[in-house]
Amino acid sequence: MFSERIASVPVSGTVSISDAVRQRRARGDEVIDLSVGEPDAATPDAVVAACEKALRDGATTYGPSQGIRPLREAIAGDHERLRGQPIDPDQVLVTPAKHALLEAFLVLLDDGDEVLIPSPAWVSYAPQVRLCGAQPVQVPVGDEGQVPVDEMRERANEDTQAVLVNSPSNPTGAVQTRETMAAVAEMAAEEDLTLVSDEVYGKLVYEGTFTSAAEVAPEDLEVVTVDGVSKAYAMTGWRIGWLTASPSFVQEALKVQQHSVTHPTLFAQHGAVEALQGDQGFVDRLREGFADRRDLVVDRLEAMGAQFPHPGGAFYVFARFPGVEDGGAFAHDLLDEAGVAVVPGEAFGPGGEGHVRLSYAVDRDTLERGLDRIEEVLT
Ligand code: GLU
Repeated sequence: MFSERIASVPVSGTVSISDAVRQRRARGDEVIDLSVGEPDAATPDAVVAACEKALRDGATTYGPSQGIRPLREAIAGDHERLRGQPIDPDQVLVTPAKHALLEAFLVLLDDGDEVLIPSPAWVSYAPQVRLCGAQPVQVPVGDEGQVPVDEMRERANEDTQAVLVNSPSNPTGAVQTRETMAAVAEMAAEEDLTLVSDEVYGKLVYEGTFTSAAEVAPEDLEVVTVDGVSKAYAMTGWRIGWLTASPSFVQEALKVQQHSVTHPTLFAQHGAVEALQGDQGFVDRLREGFADRRDLVVDRLEAMGAQFPHPGGAFYVFARFPGVEDGGAFAHDLLDEAGVAVVPGEAFGPGGEGHVRLSYAVDRDTLERGLDRIEEVLT
């Protein structure tokens, strides 16, 4: 009854845990949630006000399938500010960032094609590739989480269509150096691949400098950049993201959009315009708050003897604890014995075995209590 494609993918390791935490809390259990990646701040008031106004002004109908023009202009402006690359609003397709990735893979992949993905990597890249009938080729990253460009080049063959990068990385927080990003782009160009770059944490970098794939790509390389307002503007539930690519790529992705979601929620798009064009002080404060909690979590985990790539961005630490062989079993014990939710490393691919991912996007007090409880379970 069910397709082989759907049978080939698991539930989302992050979303399912978040649902489980919600269910436990509804039952009255106290859970310290260090699992899902979601800022603990509220969406800025001005953004909410812009959305409310749009709702009152009748933005409740269908809208343009590519996304409203003011938002595509705001995204083009944001792209240029963050990446130093001017783009045209025709190069923007507004859609939830997760759907942007699926659209990109649907545009690129046929049955039996392959996509190079660093491992560990976010839980949904490989399943999305499989849902397109293609194969993820998951290549282990080094200790510091840099993309293994040489190993990827060796794995590229005539079926390989694309390479995926994600900097800062979910789950490791690793920020790719400019050299690594340039090397990935050069490899993609030489092997005739499309470079899909998930940059949704690009504004949340605490150490080192964010380099976008678009900044270093050779001119003839197709780069699909995926970003969104979820993480930097505390707007996860709004489901507003986008991809930017060549106008012809955008037109192909638009077909998927028109046959699936039509467009993301119209009034939410008006809020996103305000997020990108309004006062950016919110992002600075959010980043400073995360940087502070990152320092706390790094110090505490080091004191527990945990090993992890140094997290320079995003809001995750991907750690291996002494004596822990099975990340899934450890995550299970933490939830059952200590009421602390983390994500098993195995959900992030073969490079994640024996690890767990902790999100530090919670208030400092909750984070400290969660770390105290992890320490107790370990001792
Ligand atoms: N990206 C976030 C995370 O990894 C949200 C859940 C998801 O989309 O996977 O926790």
